[in-house]
Amino acid sequence: MITVAQEQQAILQANQLGKLIQVVSRKGYEILGPTVRDGAIVYDRLESAEELPVGWTDEQGPGRYRLKRREDQAVFGYAVGPQSWKKCLHPATVQLWSADRQGATFRILDNETKPTPPYAFLGVRACELAAIAVQDRVLLEDKYRDPIYEQRRANIFVIAVQCTQAAATCFCASMGTGPRARKGFDLALTELVAPGVHRFAVETGSKRGAEVLAELQTASATDADRREAEAALDGAASQQVRSIDTQGIKDLLYQNFDHPRWDDVAARCLTCANCTMVCPTCFCTTVEDMTDVTGNHAERWRRWDSCFTQSFSYIHGGSIRASSKARYRQWMTHKLASWIDQFGTSGCVGCGRCITWCPVGIDITEEVRAIREENTHGKP
Ligand code: SF4
Ligand code: SF4
Repeated sequence: MITVAQEQQAILQANQLGKLIQVVSRKGYEILGPTVRDGAIVYDRLESAEELPVGWTDEQGPGRYRLKRREDQAVFGYAVGPQSWKKCLHPATVQLWSADRQGATFRILDNETKPTPPYAFLGVRACELAAIAVQDRVLLEDKYRDPIYEQRRANIFVIAVQCTQAAATCFCASMGTGPRARKGFDLALTELVAPGVHRFAVETGSKRGAEVLAELQTASATDADRREAEAALDGAASQQVRSIDTQGIKDLLYQNFDHPRWDDVAARCLTCANCTMVCPTCFCTTVEDMTDVTGNHAERWRRWDSCFTQSFSYIHGGSIRASSKARYRQWMTHKLASWIDQFGTSGCVGCGRCITWCPVGIDITEEVRAIREENTHGKP
């Protein structure tokens, strides 16, 4: 049983969601949240509650994602889409600087981190809060700090939404990252929809959150409201059909470097890199320089890169991981084993995106299970 914290005491009617957006926006935040575009629920700038995915849900499976209509008007009645908040905090492309030729030399024009408005993220799931914490550890709390991430990450106002339903690809419960958001938010909403009633149980996680809530018309949550919210959260955990047994997983993967399953998965993997693009914790980038046709203007860009490309591990003389087997093994072993040595946590938060968006439906939970079942090295 998941217990909804006692602080979750306010009830906000669904028709107040627009007011919530207005209040947060008035405080100077740019609101980013879920909306329907190109047959998926994506994160984009929001001006009003009308842009939210009201009445939509997602159907997910290995290599499969479809939107379909719900029978109710739930606003957050879906799991997670192809995009994560990485899109805003650690963007896919960033210009690092540009330069113009001046005589025999180049003058750097702009190499400062460009300021962005403070963001308010609406609809952040528990696994996504966990993923932001993982990227904080990598990009802010390690030997080198990424100033671009740091600038974007500062002062985000987080409105989490508790998951009341899980996709078939979710496995956050087994990774200990969800479905209940416990920290890292200013406000957390639990959506309660029933015939003729549509409201949100609201929990505050910070002083800023309490200040926003104070500007909204709310009522105190009753014991019955709390029980309803608890039941909704329990539902999301019990719906999860996938899991990873994380017991001794680091040693399991280290010891099974030569397991035949790596050949099996390599025969299916297209090395398309989709899994790393959709993963909310993958952080690798490359740097590209370009000039215009005159050769008088140059730019340096940082772009997401992926350990699934051959060029990613290219050094003088060739690529270290030339085969798809080596690349899949590198990705999965980093996510679930060497990430723990490097950063102290798993690199996987169980969001399931890599399963849904893999064109051939490779399922990280199945790959771990197969290695564990045919573990030739005894324990773990
Ligand atoms: S490895 Fe897959 S399930 Fe884990 S966080 Fe990345 S996309 Fe989500
Ligand atoms: S596991 Fe799937 S998504 Fe990832 S690189 Fe291979 S084919 Fe692409």
